[in-house]
Amino acid sequence: CGIVGYVGDRSAAPFLIDGLKRLEYRGYDSAGIAVYDGEKTEVVKREGRLSRLEESLNGNFTKGFLGIGHTRWATHGKPSDINAHPHTDCSGNIIVVHNGIIENYQEIREWLKERGHRFRTEVDTEVIPHLIEEYYQGDLVSAVQKTLEWIRGSFALGILSGEEPDKIIAVRKDSPLVVGLGNGENYIASDIPAILEHTRKVYILKDGHMAVVKKDRVDLMDFKGRKVEQEVFDVKWDA
Ligand code: GLU
Repeated sequence: CGIVGYVGDRSAAPFLIDGLKRLEYRGYDSAGIAVYDGEKTEVVKREGRLSRLEESLNGNFTKGFLGIGHTRWATHGKPSDINAHPHTDCSGNIIVVHNGIIENYQEIREWLKERGHRFRTEVDTEVIPHLIEEYYQGDLVSAVQKTLEWIRGSFALGILSGEEPDKIIAVRKDSPLVVGLGNGENYIASDIPAILEHTRKVYILKDGHMAVVKKDRVDLMDFKGRKVEQEVFDVKWDA
């Protein structure tokens, strides 16, 4: 339902929680965040209100500068702690938040199971980190692009990997996603109000486009990796 992401020099967790709060009005049944702390990625996710998630964080996550967060409105798999996003691969390196529905997740899941992947949930989203893991050969962007060739449906995605902790990958197909441009830091969000306190300069991603978001640069491309140009949108209104 809601997505936020942060890459920069500040602590990511407070940014993520604040952004998710600004998306609360859209409704949700659970929430979670993942933050890379320099060594590993911690994931905390809870069914229920964001206040429950905040209680579980208990002041942790003070030093991670890269993270993604999500509020979920369940479509596949009941609302629960484990079914909440972010979802991860077997190794816990590849972290994904997703808005929308993966229509062909069952066939992908069967294929991945045959190749030894173990699933923790019934959520459609969970095939994505596993498929990226399956395709990963040292380059996250190309593993994501291979994954996009197979998945069908509607999806806004925020993706990060502890193997390449300088970036968030943002993907848009039939579900909104924007990239916010900060000073020495950049953001992603499913809706502008989530980041409006931090910037008024955004790229409103187009369908079939993705962005590689680093703290000091953003590259826009199509799903095949062909560079695309887009004007920065200046948000004139207030949330
Ligand atoms: N289909 C996913 C799920 O059931 C994403 C739902 C959403 O957009 O929040 O978890």
